[in-house]
Amino acid sequence: MLSFDLPFDGRVAEMIRHKLDAGILPAEAAALVWSGHGTGQPCVVCDQPIVGAQTEYEAQYDDRPAIRFHFRCHRLWREELRRRDH
Ligand SMILES: [Zn+2]
Repeated sequence: MLSFDLPFDGRVAEMIRHKLDAGILPAEAAALVWSGHGTGQPCVVCDQPIVGAQTEYEAQYDDRPAIRFHFRCHRLWREELRRRDH
């Protein structure tokens, strides 16, 4: 069994909506996004560690600390932002 199994997309999207509403996740896209190997730090969306075998996305802002995502959590966050931005 893999220790870094992630919840299904639907569950992750639910967490993203909740964290957007709670202000934990920013409602605007980052000024800059880096990607690289995970360093074991938790993902802002699913709270699971981003391990070295996974791709980590780091979103940087001018006015708030950087936040880290799994590749998929980042994609789902951007999809949710697009859905809201109309
Ligand atoms: Zn995640």
